[in-house]
Amino acid sequence: MQNKLKNKIIIQKYGGSSVANVECVENVARRIIFYIKKGCKVIVVLSAMGDTTDELVVLAKKINPNPSEREMDMLVSTGEQISCSLLAMALHKKKVEAISLTGSQVGIITDTYHSQAKILKIEADRIKKELTKGKVVIVTGFQGVSTDFEITTLGRGGSDLSAVALAVAIKAAMCEIYTDVEGIYTADPRIVLDAKKINYITFDEMLELASRGAKIMHTRAVEVAKKFNIPLHVRSSFSKKEGTLIMEKTPVIEEAVVRGVALTDNEVKITLCNVLDKPGIAAHVFNDLACENINVDMIVQNVSHKNATDISFTVPKKDLAKTIKISKKISKDIGSGEVSFDENIAKVSIVGVGMRSHSGVAAKCFSVLAKNKINIDMISTSEISISCVIKKDLGKKALRILHKIFGLHKI
Ligand code: ASP
Ligand code: MG
Repeated sequence: MQNKLKNKIIIQKYGGSSVANVECVENVARRIIFYIKKGCKVIVVLSAMGDTTDELVVLAKKINPNPSEREMDMLVSTGEQISCSLLAMALHKKKVEAISLTGSQVGIITDTYHSQAKILKIEADRIKKELTKGKVVIVTGFQGVSTDFEITTLGRGGSDLSAVALAVAIKAAMCEIYTDVEGIYTADPRIVLDAKKINYITFDEMLELASRGAKIMHTRAVEVAKKFNIPLHVRSSFSKKEGTLIMEKTPVIEEAVVRGVALTDNEVKITLCNVLDKPGIAAHVFNDLACENINVDMIVQNVSHKNATDISFTVPKKDLAKTIKISKKISKDIGSGEVSFDENIAKVSIVGVGMRSHSGVAAKCFSVLAKNKINIDMISTSEISISCVIKKDLGKKALRILHKIFGLHKI
């Protein structure tokens, strides 16, 4: 182990719960020192302490229910400055050289979209200089500086993305994502009590799980890790145990047919009734939604009766008001009927690369739901996943039975 890590640069990202209070910050400092003693150069990326970001958002809304996005970024980016400077102090106390730096100081250059900025490039010179001086470099996660020299943030949970992007820029040997659970689980262990920790998972599976409700990893971070083939090690900052390795190809010979299951009730179903069944209508509807940056997930067009059909689709709950407004306008434009919505839905998904080569997975999934009298409202599939929209109050039950039927409690 010692030789393997000597002189290697490693990135360690600690989430909010790993730096929630003084003891946690000191625990993180100890962990970093453990790696320093092995001869590594460590770059640390931190989230804000505990629920700081949420609290800052609440504070802002007390002052102004409609704050400008620029000022919001100025505000919420401070959370990470607090955790980073405190960690530097904790390391100094233990006689370890360390420096905290903001996204802007280390040259994380983003576009100009406040609260949802994309990283354009990272000028890593400052980090390299500090590493050469033998310092632990502590970088504020979740933020950068725009091409207009404004502070931007990368979207909630964006520190994962900062860590992965830095790993790419620095060509780090390892990128560890520390959290308060032992890794990625076959299902949310708060809902499925016998959920098991997964040792290996592919980027594709992680992406599917993350976009279908598994909350551990930021989706864009996994996308970047996949693009540059940076393996990620998701693990707990409170234990020495190995966590989950997210990688291109797992070292396992036979892949799991189903690697994990996920649940989300964060979406709402919109239905455009009595839409004319002719070419160009769906294009019109979904173009208008795309123009407003609304991320449509599932789409179902029903059988046409007398040249008219219903189109249903799901969007994130936060976009409901905007989507209804646009849909009503579309409905008027194309002369279709009523626009209705259903918030009372949940989406359960099963994910696994083995589905590519195994048949009968969908049949098994639908049969077990049917046997348990769970009606499926919408279905969507990809090469490695199947998702079903069902009634919201049956979501947890569905998750548990799918977890069991695919034997995930026994891995
Ligand atoms: N502190 C930010 C948030 O809570 C970023 C992060 O935690 O990754 O969203
Ligand atoms: Mg956070």
